Amino acid sequence: MTDRYEVVVVGGGAAGLSAALVLGRARRQVLVVDAGEPRNAPAAHMQGYLSRDGMSPAEFLAEGRLEIQRYGVDLVRDRAVDVARDDADEFDVTLASGRSVHARRLVVATGLADELPSVPGVAERFGRDVLHCPYCHGWEVRDQAFGVLATSPMSVHQALIVTQWSKDVTLFLHTVAESELSDEDLRHLATAGVHVVPGEVAGLVIDDDRLTGVRLADGTAHVRDVLFVAPRAVPQTGLLEQLGAELRETPFGAYPVVDPTGLTTVPGVWAAGNAMGFAEQVVNAAAGGYRAGATINGELLMSDLESALHG
Ligand SMILES: Cc1cc2nc3c(=O)[nH]c(=O)nc-3n(C[C@H](O)[C@H](O)[C@H](O)COP(=O)(O)OP(=O)(O)OC[C@H]3O[C@@H](n4cnc5c(N)ncnc54)[C@H](O)[C@@H]3O)c2cc1C
Repeated sequence: MTDRYEVVVVGGGAAGLSAALVLGRARRQVLVVDAGEPRNAPAAHMQGYLSRDGMSPAEFLAEGRLEIQRYGVDLVRDRAVDVARDDADEFDVTLASGRSVHARRLVVATGLADELPSVPGVAERFGRDVLHCPYCHGWEVRDQAFGVLATSPMSVHQALIVTQWSKDVTLFLHTVAESELSDEDLRHLATAGVHVVPGEVAGLVIDDDRLTGVRLADGTAHVRDVLFVAPRAVPQTGLLEQLGAELRETPFGAYPVVDPTGLTTVPGVWAAGNAMGFAEQVVNAAAGGYRAGATINGELLMSDLESALHG
């Protein structure tokens, strides 16, 4: 069975739902395909979204899904696995269930995956007391004993940033040799009061389901309440790559080249949210989705007017 939609939105996080909301309200026929694995699922609270600060991420998305359905948007729990552009520059999207849908325009809002350092316990505690983003969690853990797990010299920046939330910060060099840090790094760390500990981290110390320390390979343990880590960002750009979209390398992964509305280098295909950029927090992702949706509505209108005029 092939269903025809004006717009198919792949991904039902903040970016995709927001694109669908504006398109639904513009009376477009829209399908959202969502695999249901939003990036912030491990976190109990979503912070920094004006008027929604502290809301549960699951509740935020559940409300979003209700809102789009009010405007007749279809929503399916499925995964888009294949996409192809046809001769009319429109799109056939194949879902994991085997269903196939046709779209005149496509929004790719598939987010990114966090690849965590392979220290035992880190994945299990991610989003609780193993954290990556001080803007998301810093206030809640302010003034506690912070550790930062270095995985590259860029972790120096993370250690410096988190001193805004606690003056008790230890940088565990882990896989980074002290010689990889520049003199300027060392000066900044010393001036900010960051304690630097060389040696590989072997695991976490957990008491009563709470992080209480960090254990090094040499057996020494350091009392810490919170550990900041830097996951490797893996943007979910597979569908964009299938369509031949141009990507640009950044220190945080390869993201599509887009114009200010999120239009990729493939005509008719927009990207929004973390699939478009690393720094897209929930509020930015929602804004990007909205911008893409509104742009697509206008673009479809003009395209139909031109066809009516010129055939
Ligand atoms: C632990 C943690 C805590 C965070 N806390 C905050 C916070 O407090 N405040 C904040 O602003 N930001 C926070 N973030 C960042 C936040 O998660 C992102 O900004 C936000 O999720 C980006 O929204 P998005 O719509 O781009 O992607 P996502 O929310 O990740 O949504 C993408 C959706 O697309 C689906 N998908 C992927 N591929 C396919 C496919 N092929 N077919 C169908 N569906 C697909 C996924 O399953 C998912 O449901 C946090 C991140 C983490 C990891």
